Amino acid sequence: MDTKPIIAGNWKMHKSVEEGVSFVGKIKNRILDKVEAKVIFCPPFTSLFSIVKALNGTDFGVGAQNTHFDVQGAYTGEISIEMLKSTGVQYVILGHSERRHIFGETDIWINKKIHAALNAELVPIFCIGETLDDRKSNQTAQVLKNQLNLGLQGMESIDPLKMIIAYEPVWAIGTGETASLHQVAEAHGYIQSVLERMFGQVGYEVPILYGGSVNENNAAELIQTDCVSGFLIGGASIKEESFCNIVEQVSKFYKR
Ligand code: PEP
Repeated sequence: MDTKPIIAGNWKMHKSVEEGVSFVGKIKNRILDKVEAKVIFCPPFTSLFSIVKALNGTDFGVGAQNTHFDVQGAYTGEISIEMLKSTGVQYVILGHSERRHIFGETDIWINKKIHAALNAELVPIFCIGETLDDRKSNQTAQVLKNQLNLGLQGMESIDPLKMIIAYEPVWAIGTGETASLHQVAEAHGYIQSVLERMFGQVGYEVPILYGGSVNENNAAELIQTDCVSGFLIGGASIKEESFCNIVEQVSKFYKR
């Protein structure tokens, strides 16, 4: 790889503030000097401020797992982009399949959130991916195209430094079942071609992460797969040993 791989850890609803700060402290001590990857921690909202503080002065990034698209208002339980910014985060995961499927988030909402993030200069980690039914009925390409078209609607250009796409087949998330290397290469290649059609040549440069049961045993071969720029990791990102091991393996493939 000639660009630094990106490894984002989606902690979902795990770890208290104390646990999160202690966890990133341990990871920092273990891998800070040897890491050749852009590592991004995405803890729950409650820990963002403390984790940003704990990682101050390092190259580690911090991201939120969601946002509301409005600046402020009567939205009980929601968090705005400006609130996220005030914690010091640089990234925000948007359109995760758990948000789409458990909480009913629509492509229209996700699109508004992407615009809100870009306007506030936070980098979206925009998740797309097909369900098992979509794949079985040969709808994968159509689903990915629709999610990209709707999610990125209204964007006239794209900056590869300010947008990350995460391809996460829903059937591979948290199931222990990883997409095959062929399926990953095919999906990532297709996503690149859609981005190229939407935004021109620069579309090829937008990083595309793979997500779905990435672990210590499959990370090395997945990172060498065509058009894979890194990973979005759930389960394995909250275990010190697994996460450090993946970051160390992936770092070996980055050639300055
Ligand atoms: C995720 O939640 O984005 C994810 C990829 O989870 P897991 O790695 O556990 O499959």
